[in-house]
Amino acid sequence: MKSQLEQIKINAVAEINAAETSLEEIRIKYLGKKGELTAILRGMGSLSHEERPIIGAIANEVRNSIEEALEIRGAELKKLALAKSLVDEKLDVTYNAVNPVAGHIHPITRALERMTEIFIDMGFSVAEGPEVETVTNNFDALNAPADHPSRDFQDTFYITESTLLRTQTSPVQIRAMRGMTPPIRIISPGRVYRSDVADASHSPMFHQLEGLVVDKGITMGDLKGILSQFAKTMFGPETKTRFRPHKFPVTEPSAEVDVSCFVCGGKGCRLCKGEGWMEILGSGMVHPEVLRAGGIDPDIYTGFAFGMGVERVAMVMSGIDDLRLLFENDARFLKQF
Ligand SMILES: [Zn+2]
Repeated sequence: MKSQLEQIKINAVAEINAAETSLEEIRIKYLGKKGELTAILRGMGSLSHEERPIIGAIANEVRNSIEEALEIRGAELKKLALAKSLVDEKLDVTYNAVNPVAGHIHPITRALERMTEIFIDMGFSVAEGPEVETVTNNFDALNAPADHPSRDFQDTFYITESTLLRTQTSPVQIRAMRGMTPPIRIISPGRVYRSDVADASHSPMFHQLEGLVVDKGITMGDLKGILSQFAKTMFGPETKTRFRPHKFPVTEPSAEVDVSCFVCGGKGCRLCKGEGWMEILGSGMVHPEVLRAGGIDPDIYTGFAFGMGVERVAMVMSGIDDLRLLFENDARFLKQF
């Protein structure tokens, strides 16, 4: 029995030291309830009184040796597993990262930002007004009395009888004049609303950029100088401007402003529809009644104002010929600009 025990010890330790993964099976094989060592111990009942403590001591020594071997090899295997996982799961921080897909600024926003920037460089500041405006600020104060055609229910989104979605950014002129003392030099970019069915050149919502200058001695010459300079900065230094007489309720005299086509330089092409010129804005000297409505004395101060369609400028800049394309927000289309 003694030699059996010695043999078990030799086999078990050899198996343990050769193990590459789990030691559990080996432990059960020798020390489990049906294990080899346990079977020997069960047979001890047939031993004599003299033999029993001797064999018992050897059996204990074998058990201790096996347990010690299990512990040492277990620790070694743990270390090996850790080292292996450090190698296998190593992070390569020099590996090329996957770039996130970034969009870009919408053509309308880009045009609006560029226009705003040019006027800020010329000393203008930005004034804002609400999109839900009073009928008074949107029409009456801007010299468009009750019988003016633009006030028709067919053309304007009314909220109540006295409030509406502003049809133009011009009411900001009134708000600015009431809130400031001249000299006033502001622009006001923003959304405006008209009851139009969407087609290639109309949309029920679009953007305008309004400008207003009020001071002593402001003339049509100042208006022409500022707008000509704007056109050159916006569309290129060769750009020419053309002022055509027009009629707006808010200004007197009034002028529509055309710029020479920056694609053909005035010869005529597809973008300018063969004209050589493109209309970009309406302008004029602020009507004395409008100055009065803003709380400014027209005998002391004069001023000029202008308003331009931002979509119009964005379309000209991007060579787009259908307004609806700007609002469909089809990424495949917008990616081109
Ligand atoms: Zn052209």
